[in-house]
Amino acid sequence: MINHQELKQQILNEIKELKSEETLTDLWRKYLGKDGIVTNEFKEISNVKPEERKEFGQNLNVLKSEVDTVIENAKMALKDKNLDVYLNQVQSVLVYNKPKIGHIHPLTQTINEMNTILKRIGYSVMDGPEIDTAEYNFERANLPIDHPAMDLQDTIYIEEPNLLLRTQTTAIETHVLEQYEPPFKVVMPGRTYRNEKVTKTNHFVFHQYQLVCIQEKVSMADLLATIEYLFKSFLGEDTVIRFRNKYYPEVEPGVGPDMQCFNCHGEGCAVCKGRGWIEMGGAGIRHPNMLRMAGIDPEKWQGFAFGLGLDRWAMAKHKITDIRTLLGGDLAYKPNVN
Ligand SMILES: [Zn+2]
Repeated sequence: MINHQELKQQILNEIKELKSEETLTDLWRKYLGKDGIVTNEFKEISNVKPEERKEFGQNLNVLKSEVDTVIENAKMALKDKNLDVYLNQVQSVLVYNKPKIGHIHPLTQTINEMNTILKRIGYSVMDGPEIDTAEYNFERANLPIDHPAMDLQDTIYIEEPNLLLRTQTTAIETHVLEQYEPPFKVVMPGRTYRNEKVTKTNHFVFHQYQLVCIQEKVSMADLLATIEYLFKSFLGEDTVIRFRNKYYPEVEPGVGPDMQCFNCHGEGCAVCKGRGWIEMGGAGIRHPNMLRMAGIDPEKWQGFAFGLGLDRWAMAKHKITDIRTLLGGDLAYKPNVN
C-alpha cells in the first residue's frame, strides 16, 4: 500500500519538472489512468481489514480528487503560463489536513451523561425559565422573603424585588411540582446565577443539577442509594462518598453528600481547600410546606430531592482545577491553572 503523504509530495515534485501540457496528460495517466498508481490502490481494498475499509476508501477518494484537481489546475496554469504562481498555491492544497471541528463542551457532556444515567432508572428531563420571580425562586422553595438564607444568596435582580436571575435549580422544581400530578421522577439541569466574586472555585454563573422524586412513600435510604448510584455510575465504582447532616429550609431532614477530593484523594490541596473532601450539593426529604405550596397533599405524597453543583461534577470528571476555564473565552485553553 502506498503512503498518501509521500505520493502527494512525489506528484508535486513531478509537476515542478513539467515542460508541456502533453507531459501533464502522461502524469494524469500515470496516477489516475486505467492502470494508474492511485487507481490500482483501490484494488488493495480487499487486503484491508473489514472495519478499516470505509476509512481507507474515503481517504483514497479524497486523494484521488486532490490529485485530479492538482493536475487539472496545473493544465490551466500552463495554458496561462502562470505555473510559478500556481505552484505556490498548490503547496497549500497538497498539505491539506482535515480541519479540527471541536467537541461538545465539558458541561454539556456532563449534563448529557448524568441525564442518561438517571433516565435509566426512570427519570424525565425538564427545564424552566432562567429569569424567574422571587415567589418561585424563594417562597415556594420554603424560603420566606425575610428568611436569613436570602442574605446568603446574593441575588442578581432584573427588577427588584420580584424579578431575578434564578439562584438555584430548585426554582425549576417549584414549577414542575406545581404543573404535574404525582407520582413523578424528574431531573432538571440548569444555569444559575449569584452575585459572587469570581475565583478559582466560584463563579457568578454556575450550573446545578436538580432531582426530585415524588411517590406515595419514599425514604432516606432511597435518596442515599440514588445519590450513590449517580456518583458511582458517573465518576467510577471507586468514588468515595460521605454524607453529613445539613440544614436546608427546603428539606427535612437534610443531608450533604461530599466526595473525596479527586485531586489529592483526601490529603488536602488547593482544589478542596485543604479539606480532602469536596461538597457536591444538598439533599433531603422534601419539606411538606413545599409540597403544600405546589398543591400536592403531603399526607398522601412524599418526595426526596437534591441539587448538585454541576460545575464541580464536570471538573471532577475532567480533572479541571479552575472553574473559570469552564466559561472563559481564552482560546489557549488551560484546564489546570495553578
Ligand atoms: Zn484536594
